[in-house]
Amino acid sequence: MIYKYLMGRMIPMPEKMYDLIIIGSGPAGLTAAIYASRARIKTLVLAGYQAGGQLMLTTDVEDYPGFPEGVQGPELIALMRKQGERFGAEFINEDVTSTDFSKQPFTVKTDSGTFKTRSVIVATGASAKWLEIESEKRLIGRGVSSCAVCDAAFFKEKVVAVIGGGDSAMREALHLSKYASSVTIIHRRDEFRAFPILKERVLANPKIKVVWNSEVQEVLGKDRVEGVKIKDVKTGKTQVLNVQGMFVAIGHTPNTNFLKGQIELDQKGYIIVKNEVLTSKSNIGIFAAGDVHDPKYMQAVTAAGAGCKAALEVEDFLELMKHKGKK
Ligand code: NAP
Repeated sequence: MIYKYLMGRMIPMPEKMYDLIIIGSGPAGLTAAIYASRARIKTLVLAGYQAGGQLMLTTDVEDYPGFPEGVQGPELIALMRKQGERFGAEFINEDVTSTDFSKQPFTVKTDSGTFKTRSVIVATGASAKWLEIESEKRLIGRGVSSCAVCDAAFFKEKVVAVIGGGDSAMREALHLSKYASSVTIIHRRDEFRAFPILKERVLANPKIKVVWNSEVQEVLGKDRVEGVKIKDVKTGKTQVLNVQGMFVAIGHTPNTNFLKGQIELDQKGYIIVKNEVLTSKSNIGIFAAGDVHDPKYMQAVTAAGAGCKAALEVEDFLELMKHKGKK
């Protein structure tokens, strides 16, 4: 029970009961909200203080079906949210601070309240890792990006750098090579950790060069990227590469810290799922959708698909609960 200090007294605040709480409000969470609320499931979306997920950092989205002229990331999110609200989903723009999934009904807490629910969809996504240098932060969306699929088309015939040596960096570089005049991969070691087939494709691509053993010290440019200053980690020598774009592909971190000990996570923190959207047997009634369990595809449209599947699973699960309750 939560107590609030009102009119000189501690008043017990009622805990609100829902059929479904969706944690997260990117395309996975919002699609789940549309499907669930349309199926008359009493749904609360805990959207987060920074509601909307990674699309809020993306300008033109040109590959989401249904928008032949493209759509701004934040606009797409706003439309999805409106669609969920239209069918009665409630939204609170707060982060979840703790959960108790050990018994029904489950408990989910935010800064302002405690909520009870029969089911949960975790759709908190994953955040791109950044280099965490000041100049990078300042130029995100102005030539610094973490998504070649989203932004490569803006770099037609331009010179770009990709940071990283894993599969993501290879994919980003290969995708960018279809648009940019030249792509330089900057990697901190002297070998890639990516799958051999991707490495081979990268190294055979005449548009892609590699600078080994190097780290980015600074992204140059005031309002847009004009270059990167890099340092050779072996010799200590620095040099400036003139590039107009920098794509950071050093991995993603799933947003699951608040779930540790509550549901099964893999070593990197991704939710372990069965049948794509169901979490493991020990957490019956808890579902996952989107990048929080999918380190591979990481697209708005695949996340939306996963959100739909999760909501349909919730519908079945609630029906099952109802029948069991009657017996
Ligand atoms: P990853 O495998 O963790 O690779 C991250 C890369 O970034 C590594 O080369 C790492 O260098 C480098 N790095 C990390 N932190 C850095 C920093 N602060 N500064 C500079 N470089 C840094 O991440 P990922 O490439 O995103 O792949 C993640 C998972 O998704 C993997 O399991 C991958 O197989 C999968 N994936 C698959 C595909 C596919 O097409 N099948 C595509 C994308 C991703 P070191 O090598 O020195 O550690």
